[in-house]
Amino acid sequence: MGKIKILDDQVINIIAAGEVVENPAGMIKELIENSLDANSNKIKIEISSNLIDFKITDDGDGMDRSDLLNSIQRHATSKISTKEDVFNIGTYGFRGEALASISAISKLKIISKIEDGVAHELVSYAGNIQDVRQVNAPKGTTIEIRDLFYNTPARKKFLRKETTELNKIKDVVLKEALANYDVSFSLIIDGKRTFFTTGSGIDKTVFEIFGKNNYKNLDKFSLGFLGNVEAIKNTKDYIFTYVNKRYVKSNLLERAIISGYDTKLMKGKYPFVILFLDLNPQEIDINVDPSKKFVKFSNENIVYKIVQTKIQDYFYEKDRTNWRPNIELSKENKKEDLELDFTKSNDEVFDNLLEINQNILKNNSNYDMKLKEENQLFSKQQGIFEKSDGTNKSYDVLGQVFNTYILVNNHQTSEIEIYDQHIIHEGILFQEFMEEINQNKLQSKPLLFPRIINLLPAEKDIVISNMEIFNDFGFEIDEISENSVAIRKVPDFDFRHSMETVFKEIIGSILKNEYDIPDIRREILTSMSCKGAIKAGEKLTLFEMQNMVRRLHEVGRYTCPHGRPIIVKLTKDDLDKKFGRKK
Ligand code: ADP
Ligand code: MG
Repeated sequence: MGKIKILDDQVINIIAAGEVVENPAGMIKELIENSLDANSNKIKIEISSNLIDFKITDDGDGMDRSDLLNSIQRHATSKISTKEDVFNIGTYGFRGEALASISAISKLKIISKIEDGVAHELVSYAGNIQDVRQVNAPKGTTIEIRDLFYNTPARKKFLRKETTELNKIKDVVLKEALANYDVSFSLIIDGKRTFFTTGSGIDKTVFEIFGKNNYKNLDKFSLGFLGNVEAIKNTKDYIFTYVNKRYVKSNLLERAIISGYDTKLMKGKYPFVILFLDLNPQEIDINVDPSKKFVKFSNENIVYKIVQTKIQDYFYEKDRTNWRPNIELSKENKKEDLELDFTKSNDEVFDNLLEINQNILKNNSNYDMKLKEENQLFSKQQGIFEKSDGTNKSYDVLGQVFNTYILVNNHQTSEIEIYDQHIIHEGILFQEFMEEINQNKLQSKPLLFPRIINLLPAEKDIVISNMEIFNDFGFEIDEISENSVAIRKVPDFDFRHSMETVFKEIIGSILKNEYDIPDIRREILTSMSCKGAIKAGEKLTLFEMQNMVRRLHEVGRYTCPHGRPIIVKLTKDDLDKKFGRKK
Protein backbone atom coordinates (compact mmCIF):
# COMPACT_ATOMS: atom_id res chain seq x y z
CA MET A 1 0.00 0.00 0.00
CA GLY A 2 1.25 3.50 -0.87
CA LYS A 3 2.20 6.10 1.69
CA ILE A 4 0.06 8.98 0.45
CA LYS A 5 -3.21 9.58 2.28
CA ILE A 6 -5.95 12.14 1.62
CA LEU A 7 -6.15 14.36 4.73
CA ASP A 8 -9.43 14.49 6.59
CA ASP A 9 -11.43 17.74 6.71
CA GLN A 10 -10.47 18.65 10.24
CA VAL A 11 -6.74 18.55 9.44
CA ILE A 12 -7.32 20.45 6.19
CA ASN A 13 -9.21 23.16 8.04
CA ILE A 14 -6.52 23.52 10.67
CA ILE A 15 -3.90 23.91 7.96
CA ALA A 16 -6.07 26.44 6.10
CA ALA A 17 -6.64 28.31 9.34
CA GLY A 18 -2.93 29.04 9.42
CA GLU A 19 -3.30 31.16 6.32
CA VAL A 20 -6.71 32.71 6.80
CA VAL A 21 -6.49 33.25 10.54
CA GLU A 22 -2.79 33.83 10.88
CA ASN A 23 -3.45 35.89 13.99
CA PRO A 24 -6.46 37.30 15.86
CA ALA A 25 -6.39 40.49 13.80
CA GLY A 26 -6.70 38.44 10.62
CA MET A 27 -9.71 36.71 12.10
CA ILE A 28 -11.35 39.99 13.12
CA LYS A 29 -10.82 41.29 9.61
CA GLU A 30 -12.61 38.28 8.10
CA LEU A 31 -15.50 38.65 10.53
CA ILE A 32 -15.90 42.37 9.91
CA GLU A 33 -15.88 41.78 6.18
CA ASN A 34 -18.57 39.14 6.52
CA SER A 35 -20.71 41.68 8.37
CA LEU A 36 -20.05 44.27 5.68
CA ASP A 37 -20.93 41.81 2.93
CA ALA A 38 -24.21 41.22 4.78
CA ASN A 39 -25.07 44.96 4.41
CA SER A 40 -24.76 45.83 8.08
CA ASN A 41 -25.12 49.41 9.32
CA LYS A 42 -23.64 48.74 12.72
CA ILE A 43 -20.78 46.46 13.68
CA LYS A 44 -19.70 45.93 17.26
CA ILE A 45 -16.50 44.05 18.05
CA GLU A 46 -15.83 42.92 21.60
CA ILE A 47 -12.61 41.24 22.62
CA SER A 48 -10.77 40.19 25.74
CA SER A 49 -7.29 41.69 26.01
CA ASN A 50 -5.78 38.22 26.49
CA LEU A 51 -6.99 37.51 22.95
CA ILE A 52 -8.91 34.38 23.80
CA ASP A 53 -12.53 35.44 23.55
CA PHE A 54 -14.13 37.49 20.78
CA LYS A 55 -17.62 38.55 19.84
CA ILE A 56 -18.86 40.43 16.82
CA THR A 57 -22.42 41.65 16.46
CA ASP A 58 -23.99 43.10 13.34
CA ASP A 59 -27.43 44.19 12.17
CA GLY A 60 -27.01 42.79 8.67
CA ASP A 61 -29.00 40.38 6.49
CA GLY A 62 -28.49 37.34 8.73
CA MET A 63 -28.73 33.65 7.81
CA ASP A 64 -31.57 31.13 7.92
CA ARG A 65 -31.12 27.68 9.45
CA SER A 66 -29.67 25.96 6.41
CA ASP A 67 -27.26 28.78 5.61
CA LEU A 68 -26.17 28.78 9.21
CA LEU A 69 -25.33 25.08 8.97
CA ASN A 70 -23.46 25.60 5.70
CA SER A 71 -21.58 28.68 6.80
CA ILE A 72 -18.90 26.77 8.67
CA GLN A 73 -18.35 24.25 5.90
CA ARG A 74 -15.18 24.65 3.90
CA HIS A 75 -15.54 26.36 0.50
CA ALA A 76 -19.11 27.24 1.36
CA THR A 77 -20.03 30.74 0.24
CA SER A 78 -23.08 32.70 -0.85
CA LYS A 79 -20.90 35.19 -2.72
CA ILE A 80 -19.73 33.50 -5.89
CA SER A 81 -20.69 30.40 -7.81
CA THR A 82 -19.00 30.28 -11.22
CA LYS A 83 -15.39 30.66 -12.27
CA GLU A 84 -16.25 33.92 -14.04
CA ASP A 85 -17.31 35.29 -10.67
CA VAL A 86 -13.77 34.86 -9.34
CA PHE A 87 -12.68 37.56 -11.75
CA ASN A 88 -15.56 39.90 -11.00
CA ILE A 89 -15.67 40.20 -7.26
CA GLY A 90 -17.90 42.78 -5.65
CA THR A 91 -17.81 41.48 -2.08
CA TYR A 92 -15.05 41.27 0.50
CA GLY A 93 -15.36 37.51 0.90
CA PHE A 94 -15.48 34.87 -1.81
CA ARG A 95 -13.23 32.01 -0.71
CA GLY A 96 -15.71 30.48 1.71
CA GLU A 97 -12.93 29.61 4.12
CA ALA A 98 -13.04 32.03 7.02
CA LEU A 99 -15.78 30.55 9.16
CA ALA A 100 -14.64 26.99 8.44
CA SER A 101 -11.11 27.91 9.49
CA ILE A 102 -12.14 29.81 12.58
CA SER A 103 -14.49 27.09 13.71
CA ALA A 104 -11.71 24.51 13.31
CA ILE A 105 -9.55 26.18 15.95
CA SER A 106 -12.07 27.48 18.48
CA LYS A 107 -15.33 27.01 20.30
CA LEU A 108 -17.83 28.87 18.17
CA LYS A 109 -21.36 30.10 18.65
CA ILE A 110 -23.30 31.83 15.86
CA ILE A 111 -26.71 33.38 16.39
CA SER A 112 -28.40 34.69 13.27
CA LYS A 113 -31.77 35.92 12.09
CA ILE A 114 -32.96 37.03 8.67
CA GLU A 115 -35.57 39.78 8.20
CA ASP A 116 -38.76 37.69 8.29
CA GLY A 117 -37.49 34.51 9.86
CA VAL A 118 -36.73 33.02 13.24
CA ALA A 119 -33.35 33.21 14.94
CA HIS A 120 -31.14 30.12 15.25
CA GLU A 121 -28.12 29.38 17.33
CA LEU A 122 -25.35 27.04 16.23
CA VAL A 123 -22.62 25.77 18.53
CA SER A 124 -19.50 24.00 17.30
CA TYR A 125 -16.29 22.82 18.96
CA ALA A 126 -13.21 22.42 16.77
CA GLY A 127 -15.47 22.42 13.73
CA ASN A 128 -17.86 19.74 15.04
CA ILE A 129 -21.44 20.95 15.33
CA GLN A 130 -22.71 20.38 18.88
CA ASP A 131 -26.15 21.90 18.71
CA VAL A 132 -28.55 23.92 16.54
CA ARG A 133 -31.67 25.37 18.06
CA GLN A 134 -34.22 28.16 17.78
CA VAL A 135 -33.62 31.19 19.98
CA ASN A 136 -34.84 34.76 20.36
CA ALA A 137 -32.64 37.38 18.74
CA PRO A 138 -32.90 40.54 16.64
CA LYS A 139 -32.17 40.62 12.90
CA GLY A 140 -28.50 40.21 12.10
CA THR A 141 -25.69 37.97 13.23
CA THR A 142 -23.66 37.53 16.38
CA ILE A 143 -20.55 35.38 16.30
CA GLU A 144 -18.86 34.39 19.52
CA ILE A 145 -15.45 32.78 19.51
CA ARG A 146 -14.10 31.30 22.71
CA ASP A 147 -10.70 29.75 23.43
CA LEU A 148 -9.14 30.63 20.11
CA PHE A 149 -6.35 28.15 19.23
CA TYR A 150 -7.33 25.88 22.15
CA ASN A 151 -6.77 22.74 20.08
CA THR A 152 -3.68 24.09 18.28
CA PRO A 153 -1.39 25.20 21.13
CA ALA A 154 1.59 25.24 18.78
CA ARG A 155 0.01 28.06 16.79
CA LYS A 156 -0.73 30.03 19.91
CA LYS A 157 2.96 30.06 20.72
CA PHE A 158 3.68 31.95 17.51
CA LEU A 159 1.60 34.93 18.51
CA ARG A 160 3.44 38.17 19.23
CA LYS A 161 3.02 39.79 22.61
CA GLU A 162 -0.49 40.89 23.54
CA THR A 163 -0.05 44.63 23.00
CA THR A 164 1.30 44.01 19.53
CA GLU A 165 -1.64 41.78 18.64
CA LEU A 166 -4.11 44.27 20.14
CA ASN A 167 -2.56 47.07 18.10
CA LYS A 168 -2.96 44.99 14.98
CA ILE A 169 -6.64 44.53 15.79
CA LYS A 170 -7.11 48.26 16.35
CA ASP A 171 -5.38 48.88 13.07
CA VAL A 172 -7.68 46.47 11.24
CA VAL A 173 -10.79 48.09 12.71
CA LEU A 174 -9.51 51.57 11.88
CA LYS A 175 -8.82 50.65 8.28
CA GLU A 176 -12.21 49.00 7.78
CA ALA A 177 -14.04 51.88 9.45
CA LEU A 178 -12.25 54.48 7.35
CA ALA A 179 -13.38 52.98 4.05
CA ASN A 180 -16.83 52.01 5.26
CA TYR A 181 -17.72 55.45 6.50
CA ASP A 182 -21.46 54.84 6.29
CA VAL A 183 -21.22 52.00 8.79
CA SER A 184 -20.84 52.58 12.52
CA PHE A 185 -17.99 50.65 14.12
CA SER A 186 -17.20 50.12 17.76
CA LEU A 187 -14.33 48.21 19.26
CA ILE A 188 -14.62 47.20 22.89
CA ILE A 189 -11.66 45.74 24.74
CA ASP A 190 -12.35 44.20 28.16
CA GLY A 191 -15.65 46.08 28.29
CA LYS A 192 -14.05 49.44 27.50
CA ARG A 193 -14.87 51.18 24.23
CA THR A 194 -11.62 52.11 22.57
CA PHE A 195 -12.74 53.02 19.08
CA PHE A 196 -15.95 54.36 17.68
CA THR A 197 -17.31 55.83 14.47
CA THR A 198 -20.89 56.95 13.92
CA GLY A 199 -21.02 55.94 10.27
CA SER A 200 -22.10 59.38 9.10
CA GLY A 201 -20.08 59.97 5.98
CA ILE A 202 -16.45 60.32 4.99
CA ASP A 203 -15.70 63.74 6.49
CA LYS A 204 -17.19 62.96 9.88
CA THR A 205 -15.46 59.58 9.91
CA VAL A 206 -12.01 61.01 9.13
CA PHE A 207 -12.61 63.58 11.86
CA GLU A 208 -13.73 60.91 14.33
CA ILE A 209 -10.82 58.61 13.63
CA PHE A 210 -7.92 61.05 13.36
CA GLY A 211 -9.14 64.00 15.41
CA LYS A 212 -9.49 67.69 14.69
CA ASN A 213 -5.81 68.49 14.32
CA ASN A 214 -5.20 65.92 11.65
CA TYR A 215 -8.47 66.67 9.92
CA LYS A 216 -7.57 70.31 9.44
CA ASN A 217 -4.35 69.31 7.72
CA LEU A 218 -6.13 67.10 5.21
CA ASP A 219 -7.50 68.49 1.96
CA LYS A 220 -10.26 66.70 0.13
CA PHE A 221 -9.50 65.86 -3.48
CA SER A 222 -11.07 63.72 -6.18
CA LEU A 223 -9.65 60.43 -4.82
CA GLY A 224 -9.83 61.06 -1.08
CA PHE A 225 -7.67 63.23 1.16
CA LEU A 226 -4.20 64.72 0.82
CA GLY A 227 -2.25 65.84 3.85
CA ASN A 228 -0.53 69.22 3.66
CA VAL A 229 3.03 69.97 4.78
CA GLU A 230 1.95 70.13 8.43
CA ALA A 231 1.10 66.46 8.18
CA ILE A 232 4.35 65.10 6.78
CA LYS A 233 5.38 61.85 8.48
CA ASN A 234 8.54 59.83 8.93
CA THR A 235 6.87 56.55 8.03
CA LYS A 236 4.47 55.24 5.44
CA ASP A 237 1.95 54.37 8.14
CA TYR A 238 -0.31 57.25 7.19
CA ILE A 239 -0.67 56.27 3.58
CA PHE A 240 -4.05 54.55 3.44
CA THR A 241 -4.74 53.06 0.04
CA TYR A 242 -8.00 51.36 -0.87
CA VAL A 243 -9.09 49.67 -4.04
CA ASN A 244 -12.84 49.20 -4.25
CA LYS A 245 -13.06 49.89 -0.50
CA ARG A 246 -10.59 47.16 0.27
CA TYR A 247 -7.44 48.28 2.11
CA VAL A 248 -4.44 47.15 0.10
CA LYS A 249 -0.69 47.40 0.48
CA SER A 250 0.69 48.38 -2.86
CA ASN A 251 4.14 49.61 -3.79
CA LEU A 252 2.76 50.87 -7.04
CA LEU A 253 0.20 53.10 -5.34
CA GLU A 254 2.73 54.33 -2.79
CA ARG A 255 5.18 55.28 -5.50
CA ALA A 256 2.46 57.03 -7.48
CA ILE A 257 1.43 59.06 -4.45
CA ILE A 258 4.97 60.03 -3.55
CA SER A 259 5.70 61.09 -7.09
CA GLY A 260 2.46 63.10 -7.11
CA TYR A 261 3.74 65.05 -4.10
CA ASP A 262 6.94 65.63 -6.02
CA THR A 263 9.24 68.19 -4.39
CA LYS A 264 6.87 68.73 -1.49
CA LEU A 265 8.45 65.73 0.21
CA MET A 266 12.01 65.49 1.38
CA LYS A 267 13.82 62.20 1.13
CA GLY A 268 12.64 59.77 3.80
CA LYS A 269 9.46 61.74 4.49
CA TYR A 270 5.98 60.54 3.67
CA PRO A 271 2.62 62.23 3.31
CA PHE A 272 -0.66 61.58 5.10
CA VAL A 273 -2.93 60.35 2.34
CA ILE A 274 -6.25 58.59 2.17
CA LEU A 275 -6.80 57.22 -1.30
CA PHE A 276 -9.92 55.48 -2.59
CA LEU A 277 -9.58 53.99 -6.04
CA ASP A 278 -12.69 52.60 -7.64
CA LEU A 279 -11.87 50.29 -10.50
CA ASN A 280 -13.85 47.84 -12.52
CA PRO A 281 -13.51 44.57 -10.56
CA GLN A 282 -12.38 42.89 -13.77
CA GLU A 283 -9.34 45.17 -13.86
CA ILE A 284 -7.94 43.80 -10.62
CA ASP A 285 -7.02 40.47 -9.10
CA ILE A 286 -7.28 40.21 -5.33
CA ASN A 287 -6.93 36.47 -5.26
CA VAL A 288 -3.14 36.69 -5.13
CA ASP A 289 -2.84 36.08 -1.39
CA PRO A 290 -5.18 34.44 1.13
CA SER A 291 -5.08 37.54 3.32
CA LYS A 292 -6.46 39.60 0.39
CA LYS A 293 -4.16 42.45 1.40
CA PHE A 294 -2.45 42.64 -1.97
CA VAL A 295 -3.82 43.42 -5.36
CA LYS A 296 -2.69 42.96 -8.95
CA PHE A 297 -3.76 45.56 -11.50
CA SER A 298 -4.30 44.44 -15.06
CA ASN A 299 -2.83 47.74 -16.23
CA GLU A 300 -0.28 49.05 -13.76
CA ASN A 301 0.81 52.02 -15.87
CA ILE A 302 -2.65 53.47 -16.15
CA VAL A 303 -3.32 53.12 -12.43
CA TYR A 304 0.02 54.76 -11.61
CA LYS A 305 -0.64 57.65 -13.99
CA ILE A 306 -4.17 58.27 -12.70
CA VAL A 307 -3.04 58.52 -9.10
CA GLN A 308 0.05 60.58 -9.84
CA THR A 309 -1.70 63.11 -12.08
CA LYS A 310 -4.76 63.53 -9.86
CA ILE A 311 -2.43 64.48 -7.01
CA GLN A 312 -0.23 66.71 -9.17
CA ASP A 313 -3.29 68.45 -10.62
CA TYR A 314 -4.68 69.05 -7.17
CA PHE A 315 -1.48 70.68 -5.91
CA TYR A 316 -1.06 72.65 -9.12
CA GLU A 317 -4.48 74.23 -8.61
CA LYS A 318 -3.93 74.73 -4.91
CA ASP A 319 -0.51 76.30 -5.27
CA ARG A 320 -1.88 78.70 -7.86
CA THR A 321 -4.76 79.88 -5.71
CA ASN A 322 -2.72 80.05 -2.53
CA TRP A 323 0.29 81.62 -4.17
CA ARG A 324 2.15 84.08 -2.02
CA PRO A 325 5.50 85.79 -2.21
CA ASN A 326 8.24 83.49 -1.13
CA ILE A 327 9.77 85.48 1.65
CA GLU A 328 11.25 84.60 4.96
CA LEU A 329 9.16 85.02 8.05
CA SER A 330 10.73 87.02 10.78
CA LYS A 331 10.98 85.24 14.10
CA GLU A 332 8.29 87.25 15.88
CA ASN A 333 5.39 86.44 13.64
CA LYS A 334 6.36 82.96 12.63
CA LYS A 335 4.41 80.95 15.13
CA GLU A 336 1.08 82.60 15.83
CA ASP A 337 0.29 84.04 12.43
CA LEU A 338 0.32 80.78 10.59
CA GLU A 339 -2.41 79.26 12.74
CA LEU A 340 -5.24 79.29 10.24
CA ASP A 341 -8.73 78.61 11.37
CA PHE A 342 -9.94 75.67 9.33
CA THR A 343 -13.58 76.18 10.25
CA LYS A 344 -13.61 79.34 8.16
CA SER A 345 -14.66 79.27 4.54
CA ASN A 346 -11.99 79.25 1.85
CA ASP A 347 -12.55 82.91 1.11
CA GLU A 348 -12.00 83.91 4.67
CA VAL A 349 -8.88 81.78 4.86
CA PHE A 350 -7.61 83.44 1.74
CA ASP A 351 -8.24 86.91 3.19
CA ASN A 352 -6.51 85.78 6.33
CA LEU A 353 -3.50 84.72 4.28
CA LEU A 354 -3.35 88.06 2.49
CA GLU A 355 -3.36 89.82 5.81
CA ILE A 356 -0.59 87.61 7.12
CA ASN A 357 1.47 88.34 4.02
CA GLN A 358 1.13 92.05 4.52
CA ASN A 359 2.21 91.74 8.14
CA ILE A 360 5.18 89.69 7.14
CA LEU A 361 6.23 92.23 4.55
CA LYS A 362 5.91 95.01 7.09
CA ASN A 363 7.80 93.23 9.85
CA ASN A 364 10.38 91.88 7.52
CA SER A 365 11.60 95.26 6.39
CA ASN A 366 12.05 96.26 10.04
CA TYR A 367 13.88 93.06 10.65
CA ASP A 368 16.21 93.67 7.75
CA MET A 369 16.96 97.15 9.03
CA LYS A 370 17.82 95.85 12.47
CA LEU A 371 19.97 93.21 10.89
CA LYS A 372 21.96 95.76 8.94
CA GLU A 373 22.61 97.81 12.05
CA GLU A 374 23.71 94.79 13.98
CA ASN A 375 25.96 93.61 11.19
CA GLN A 376 27.68 96.95 11.04
CA LEU A 377 28.18 96.85 14.77
CA PHE A 378 29.82 93.44 14.72
CA SER A 379 31.55 93.44 11.39
CA LYS A 380 34.90 94.36 12.88
CA GLN A 381 34.75 92.02 15.83
CA GLN A 382 37.02 89.03 15.92
CA GLY A 383 36.29 85.91 17.91
CA ILE A 384 38.97 84.58 20.18
CA PHE A 385 38.16 81.59 22.20
CA GLU A 386 40.32 79.62 24.53
CA LYS A 387 39.73 75.91 24.48
CA SER A 388 39.98 74.01 27.75
CA ASP A 389 43.29 72.39 26.74
CA GLY A 390 44.82 75.82 26.66
CA THR A 391 45.14 76.33 22.92
CA ASN A 392 43.84 79.56 21.57
CA LYS A 393 41.43 79.45 18.72
CA SER A 394 41.39 82.60 16.75
CA TYR A 395 38.94 83.10 13.93
CA ASP A 396 36.78 85.60 12.14
CA VAL A 397 33.13 84.91 11.42
CA LEU A 398 32.86 86.40 7.96
CA GLY A 399 29.15 86.02 7.36
CA GLN A 400 26.40 83.83 6.06
CA VAL A 401 25.84 82.63 2.52
CA PHE A 402 22.65 81.22 0.99
CA ASN A 403 21.05 81.73 4.42
CA THR A 404 22.45 78.29 5.19
CA TYR A 405 26.22 78.30 5.56
CA ILE A 406 28.44 80.22 7.93
CA LEU A 407 31.83 81.29 6.64
CA VAL A 408 34.67 81.40 9.12
CA ASN A 409 38.27 82.38 8.58
CA ASN A 410 40.41 80.21 10.84
CA HIS A 411 43.62 82.14 11.46
CA GLN A 412 45.54 79.24 12.93
CA THR A 413 45.13 76.90 10.03
CA SER A 414 44.76 79.66 7.43
CA GLU A 415 41.69 77.93 6.14
CA ILE A 416 38.22 79.09 5.24
CA GLU A 417 35.78 76.92 7.17
CA ILE A 418 32.23 76.52 5.98
CA TYR A 419 29.69 75.36 8.55
CA ASP A 420 26.19 74.14 7.92
CA GLN A 421 24.19 76.22 10.38
CA HIS A 422 21.53 73.59 11.01
CA ILE A 423 24.03 70.84 11.60
CA ILE A 424 26.29 72.72 13.99
CA HIS A 425 23.37 74.00 15.99
CA GLU A 426 21.96 70.50 16.13
CA GLY A 427 25.27 69.15 17.39
CA ILE A 428 25.46 71.80 20.10
CA LEU A 429 21.93 71.12 21.28
CA PHE A 430 22.52 67.39 21.26
CA GLN A 431 25.49 67.76 23.53
CA GLU A 432 23.68 70.16 25.86
CA PHE A 433 20.65 67.88 26.11
CA MET A 434 22.85 64.89 26.72
CA GLU A 435 24.54 66.63 29.63
CA GLU A 436 21.27 67.81 31.13
CA ILE A 437 19.72 64.37 30.82
CA ASN A 438 22.74 62.63 32.30
CA GLN A 439 22.77 65.00 35.23
CA ASN A 440 19.00 64.84 35.57
CA LYS A 441 18.78 68.56 35.06
CA LEU A 442 16.39 68.79 32.14
CA GLN A 443 13.85 71.38 33.22
CA SER A 444 10.19 71.27 32.31
CA LYS A 445 7.72 74.11 32.24
CA PRO A 446 3.97 73.86 32.83
CA LEU A 447 1.66 74.92 30.01
CA LEU A 448 -0.95 77.51 30.90
CA PHE A 449 -3.53 75.51 28.99
CA PRO A 450 -2.91 71.79 28.64
CA ARG A 451 -2.43 70.87 25.01
CA ILE A 452 -4.81 68.18 23.76
CA ILE A 453 -3.24 65.91 21.20
CA ASN A 454 -5.15 63.42 19.10
CA LEU A 455 -3.44 60.11 18.57
CA LEU A 456 -4.05 56.88 16.76
CA PRO A 457 -4.83 54.05 19.17
CA ALA A 458 -1.41 52.50 18.60
CA GLU A 459 0.30 55.81 19.23
CA LYS A 460 -1.59 56.38 22.45
CA ASP A 461 -0.57 52.96 23.71
CA ILE A 462 3.05 53.86 23.03
CA VAL A 463 2.70 56.97 25.16
CA ILE A 464 1.01 55.19 28.03
CA SER A 465 3.43 52.30 28.13
CA ASN A 466 6.52 54.52 27.86
CA MET A 467 5.45 57.24 30.24
CA GLU A 468 8.76 57.06 32.05
CA ILE A 469 10.70 58.06 28.97
CA PHE A 470 8.40 60.98 28.29
CA ASN A 471 8.77 62.11 31.91
CA ASP A 472 12.56 61.92 31.67
CA PHE A 473 12.41 64.22 28.71
CA GLY A 474 10.33 66.76 30.59
CA PHE A 475 6.81 65.93 29.45
CA GLU A 476 3.90 65.52 31.83
CA ILE A 477 1.02 63.75 30.15
CA ASP A 478 -2.47 62.57 31.08
CA GLU A 479 -4.65 60.17 29.22
CA ILE A 480 -7.96 61.95 28.65
CA SER A 481 -9.93 59.84 26.22
CA GLU A 482 -9.80 56.90 23.86
CA ASN A 483 -7.77 58.76 21.27
CA SER A 484 -6.26 61.74 22.96
CA VAL A 485 -3.88 62.83 25.68
CA ALA A 486 -3.32 66.14 27.44
CA ILE A 487 0.21 67.51 27.68
CA ARG A 488 0.56 69.54 30.86
CA LYS A 489 4.31 70.13 31.04
CA VAL A 490 6.85 70.30 28.28
CA PRO A 491 10.64 70.44 28.18
CA ASP A 492 11.81 73.97 28.95
CA PHE A 493 13.31 74.62 25.59
CA ASP A 494 12.57 76.79 22.60
CA PHE A 495 11.64 74.36 19.87
CA ARG A 496 11.40 75.77 16.42
CA HIS A 497 8.71 73.25 15.58
CA SER A 498 5.34 72.90 17.23
CA MET A 499 5.30 70.96 20.46
CA GLU A 500 3.01 68.49 18.74
CA THR A 501 5.56 67.76 16.04
CA VAL A 502 8.25 67.10 18.63
CA PHE A 503 5.92 64.90 20.68
CA LYS A 504 4.86 62.87 17.66
CA GLU A 505 8.46 62.55 16.62
CA ILE A 506 9.28 60.96 19.96
CA ILE A 507 6.41 58.53 19.53
CA GLY A 508 7.79 57.72 16.10
CA SER A 509 11.25 57.09 17.55
CA ILE A 510 9.87 54.70 20.13
CA LEU A 511 7.81 52.89 17.51
CA LYS A 512 10.93 52.40 15.43
CA ASN A 513 13.09 50.93 18.23
CA GLU A 514 10.64 48.63 19.90
CA TYR A 515 13.09 47.00 22.25
CA ASP A 516 16.32 48.85 22.86
CA ILE A 517 15.85 51.53 25.53
CA PRO A 518 19.29 53.25 25.34
CA ASP A 519 18.86 53.56 21.60
CA ILE A 520 15.44 55.10 22.04
CA ARG A 521 16.87 57.78 24.30
CA ARG A 522 19.59 58.56 21.85
CA GLU A 523 17.09 58.72 19.00
CA ILE A 524 14.89 61.07 20.98
CA LEU A 525 17.84 63.30 21.83
CA THR A 526 18.78 63.38 18.19
CA SER A 527 15.32 64.26 17.05
CA MET A 528 14.81 66.87 19.77
CA SER A 529 18.06 68.56 18.83
CA CYS A 530 17.11 68.44 15.20
CA LYS A 531 13.74 70.00 15.96
CA GLY A 532 15.29 72.68 18.12
CA ALA A 533 17.99 73.65 15.69
CA ILE A 534 17.97 76.58 13.33
CA LYS A 535 17.03 75.45 9.88
CA ALA A 536 18.71 75.98 6.57
CA GLY A 537 17.23 79.05 4.94
CA GLU A 538 17.00 81.11 8.12
CA LYS A 539 18.80 84.39 8.14
CA LEU A 540 21.15 84.81 11.10
CA THR A 541 22.67 87.89 12.64
CA LEU A 542 26.41 88.04 12.92
CA PHE A 543 26.00 87.94 16.66
CA GLU A 544 24.02 84.69 16.46
CA MET A 545 26.65 83.18 14.19
CA GLN A 546 29.48 84.15 16.49
CA ASN A 547 27.66 82.67 19.42
CA MET A 548 27.08 79.46 17.58
CA VAL A 549 30.66 79.05 16.45
CA ARG A 550 31.84 79.79 19.98
CA ARG A 551 29.48 77.18 21.45
CA LEU A 552 30.62 74.69 18.85
CA HIS A 553 34.21 75.00 20.02
CA GLU A 554 33.14 74.87 23.65
CA VAL A 555 31.21 71.70 23.07
CA GLY A 556 34.02 70.38 20.95
CA ARG A 557 31.81 68.05 18.98
CA TYR A 558 32.63 68.13 15.31
CA THR A 559 30.27 65.55 13.90
CA CYS A 560 26.51 65.80 13.80
CA PRO A 561 24.37 63.25 15.66
CA HIS A 562 23.34 61.80 12.29
CA GLY A 563 27.00 61.35 11.42
CA ARG A 564 27.19 63.99 8.70
CA PRO A 565 30.27 66.20 8.48
CA ILE A 566 29.80 69.68 9.87
CA ILE A 567 32.76 71.57 8.52
CA VAL A 568 33.94 71.89 4.96
CA LYS A 569 37.37 73.43 4.59
CA LEU A 570 38.87 75.51 1.86
CA THR A 571 42.60 76.25 1.97
CA LYS A 572 44.46 79.08 0.28
CA ASP A 573 46.01 76.38 -1.86
CA ASP A 574 42.59 75.30 -3.09
CA LEU A 575 41.76 78.84 -4.10
CA ASP A 576 45.14 79.39 -5.70
CA LYS A 577 44.59 76.32 -7.83
CA LYS A 578 41.13 77.46 -8.85
CA PHE A 579 42.51 80.78 -10.00
CA GLY A 580 45.39 79.26 -11.84
CA ARG A 581 48.06 80.73 -9.55
CA LYS A 582 49.24 77.23 -8.87
CA LYS A 583 49.07 73.93 -10.67
P1 ADP B 1 -16.99 34.00 2.44
O1 ADP B 1 -17.11 35.28 3.17
O2 ADP B 1 -15.74 33.91 1.65
O3 ADP B 1 -18.19 33.65 1.66
P2 ADP B 1 -17.00 32.83 5.06
O4 ADP B 1 -16.49 31.57 5.60
O5 ADP B 1 -16.41 34.08 5.62
O6 ADP B 1 -16.80 32.83 3.50
O7 ADP B 1 -18.53 32.89 5.26
C1 ADP B 1 -19.34 31.84 4.73
C2 ADP B 1 -20.73 32.32 4.46
O8 ADP B 1 -21.42 32.55 5.67
C3 ADP B 1 -20.82 33.63 3.70
O9 ADP B 1 -20.75 33.43 2.31
C4 ADP B 1 -22.16 34.17 4.15
O10 ADP B 1 -23.20 33.66 3.34
C5 ADP B 1 -22.32 33.62 5.55
N1 ADP B 1 -22.02 34.61 6.59
C6 ADP B 1 -20.85 34.71 7.28
N2 ADP B 1 -20.90 35.74 8.15
C7 ADP B 1 -22.10 36.33 8.02
C8 ADP B 1 -22.75 37.46 8.64
N3 ADP B 1 -22.14 38.20 9.58
N4 ADP B 1 -24.00 37.77 8.23
C9 ADP B 1 -24.61 37.04 7.28
N5 ADP B 1 -24.05 35.99 6.66
C10 ADP B 1 -22.81 35.61 7.02
MG1 MG C 1 -15.88 35.90 4.65
